[in-house]
Amino acid sequence: MPELPEVETVRRGLAANIVGEKFKKIEVRHERATSKNSLARIESLSGAKVLEVNRRGKFLWLTFNRPEVLVAHLGMSGQFLIQPKSAADEKHLRARFVMKRNELRFIDQRTFGWLSVETLSDGVPSSAAHIALDPFDEEFDLTRAVNRFSARKTQVKKALLDQEVISGVGNIYADESLWRARIHPETRIEKLKSAKIQELIQCASEVMTEAISQGGTSFDDLYINVNGESGYFERSLAVYGQEGEPCPRCGTAIKRISFSNRSSHFCPKCQPTPRKSGK
Ligand SMILES: [Zn+2]
Repeated sequence: MPELPEVETVRRGLAANIVGEKFKKIEVRHERATSKNSLARIESLSGAKVLEVNRRGKFLWLTFNRPEVLVAHLGMSGQFLIQPKSAADEKHLRARFVMKRNELRFIDQRTFGWLSVETLSDGVPSSAAHIALDPFDEEFDLTRAVNRFSARKTQVKKALLDQEVISGVGNIYADESLWRARIHPETRIEKLKSAKIQELIQCASEVMTEAISQGGTSFDDLYINVNGESGYFERSLAVYGQEGEPCPRCGTAIKRISFSNRSSHFCPKCQPTPRKSGK
């Protein structure tokens, strides 16, 4: 599933390819491609000229020479591709935006991704209004993020994945950040000092910065950039998907445990199990 580094890679690819372009024709080919919250049909953006490609957390939006914006969420498997008009339709093609020389295509195998027409309030589309700032946002405030984090009475990994605490972190980068900060994923937030939480958020932003520089992680083959290329950060993963492999720091075999229908990967030595005592 695309996380912040993958969505940011897509954002940069879109910005490089479609800013200044006009959507001459739009064709939506699957009803699930349009969010129920869309103010209008996606086709109503025909004729609009793209001004900017923005992002908050995993939400992308295009601004135009009109008040409406096009919001996109890639869900589990959504992809944007820039394709020549002559390219055959992809099997899971959901929407097509015809531009002057080529096409922007939205492809989504599992159909959890969506598009919607929205307006902005305070510069953010309504579907992303509840999403916290991510560490790459100019207005991101580390102290406030630490405070929001500390207020959660839950396991540290759950808070890290909560898009209303800080946004953009999914399962891959949560596991990698916790490994870097040497925190067991099941540690209760109440047991962590603010300085440790701050270190964790800094680790998350560090690991995501490195991932962006490598075009993201294409671990499950569902994520590619707008040119159809994979990212290569999976080569740098320390724990995610590395069960049984040696920890890059201490050599201990990486462990995998189940975590709300998914998995957590960690080093049992660098990230010792929290003690179960009371406070
Ligand atoms: Zn280790």
